[in-house]
Amino acid sequence: MKDVSRVAVVGGGVIGLSVAWALGEAGFRVVLVDPEPGRGASWVAGGMLAPVTESWPGEDDVLALGAASLGLWPAFAERLGQTGGDPGLRTHGTLALALDSADVGTLAVLAEYLSAQGREVERLTGRELRALEPSLGPRVRSGLSVPGDLAVDNRSLLIALRDACDRVGVGFLPAAAKAVRPGGVEVGDSTVECDVAVIAAGAWSRTLHPALETVTRPVKGEILRLRARPGALPIPTRTIRAHVESRPVYLVPRADGELVLGATQYEAGYDTEVTVGGVRDLLADAEQVLPGIAEYALAECAAGLRAGSRDNLPLVGWLEPGVLAATGHHRNGLLLAPGTAASVVAMLRDGAEPDPAADPARFLSTGGRTR
Ligand SMILES: Cc1cc2nc3c(=O)[nH]c(=O)nc-3n(C[C@H](O)[C@H](O)[C@H](O)COP(=O)(O)OP(=O)(O)OC[C@H]3O[C@@H](n4cnc5c(N)ncnc54)[C@H](O)[C@@H]3O)c2cc1C
Repeated sequence: MKDVSRVAVVGGGVIGLSVAWALGEAGFRVVLVDPEPGRGASWVAGGMLAPVTESWPGEDDVLALGAASLGLWPAFAERLGQTGGDPGLRTHGTLALALDSADVGTLAVLAEYLSAQGREVERLTGRELRALEPSLGPRVRSGLSVPGDLAVDNRSLLIALRDACDRVGVGFLPAAAKAVRPGGVEVGDSTVECDVAVIAAGAWSRTLHPALETVTRPVKGEILRLRARPGALPIPTRTIRAHVESRPVYLVPRADGELVLGATQYEAGYDTEVTVGGVRDLLADAEQVLPGIAEYALAECAAGLRAGSRDNLPLVGWLEPGVLAATGHHRNGLLLAPGTAASVVAMLRDGAEPDPAADPARFLSTGGRTR
């Protein structure tokens, strides 16, 4: 590969900011192109770093990639802390809960899969769960404790990443890219010239390069932010994930007393309007798990667009010489950010190969890797 010194990163969500910071630290000259950095799905997200409770039989690569990136998280957060930012890494663990007999069956499948993968999970009764988290309701029948599945405050993280980028000299161009091609990023009537362009524009990446058009798609998700009011039951300590009548729901506590409740999942193109039905279902399901939320304030309703891919794995690697993709992180972009950033640095600095599970070559008609 020819020498690379100038890199343009297109998109400044958690992926673009993490990649830009890591490349800046590694000595590259980086410009980040984004009209609104730090927004997108990353601003809306729940903040779970939870590959184990997120896993499912048949998705071994998703679990392996997620677990590898989770392993990088403590050092990633500590390095961000050293630059003055606090990403709000929360290490209290995660509980996965079941309410009715179908949910109990779903959790049993997950527990067996995890045991087969050599991952320890502790099975708990409803009584044991309520001893750990007294605000859980009486309908919670059983669950799993996964202390290694963590959480992060996504908004604090984005602020910390932006500061960290500034400190390593990343330049910010507040503009929307129109297209990305080898040697440059088209912005308005001009071109940002670079040796390598990294497409990290989340659900919008598919509009920037033809190779991404049909292999990623926007997946809408609605999410709520609640706040315990004086006199109400306190928010839980751990992240709570549950199946309520087979619908997934999660509650992620924040250090400042906020409780993030998510998330719906629809294929609705680029629609980001919050629907009445989405909010109703989330609140109804969450109330089965934590009845005390009825006394909480409803602080925010929001919707974001995940970048889904056909196999639920990201696309991190070459699309053509000079153009790298770092997109398609679907439900796990916060979790995968340290792994994706490390992988992009290794490809650009050391000429490393992409991780085969994430290599876009699996979708490209040429079938071969190009750089
Ligand atoms: C409701 C919801 C809950 C979620 N919960 C979790 C969770 O708990 N844990 C987890 O790991 N993940 C979660 N996710 C997924 C996670 O949010 C995404 O995978 C992650 O945010 C993807 O980051 P990104 O940087 O690729 O994209 P985004 O955060 O969407 O950022 C894309 C950026 O590109 C910019 N952009 C767009 N078009 C252009 C253009 N033409 N030129 C330049 N810039 C452009 C945008 O302004 C934006 O800043 C959730 C997602 C949703 C929607």
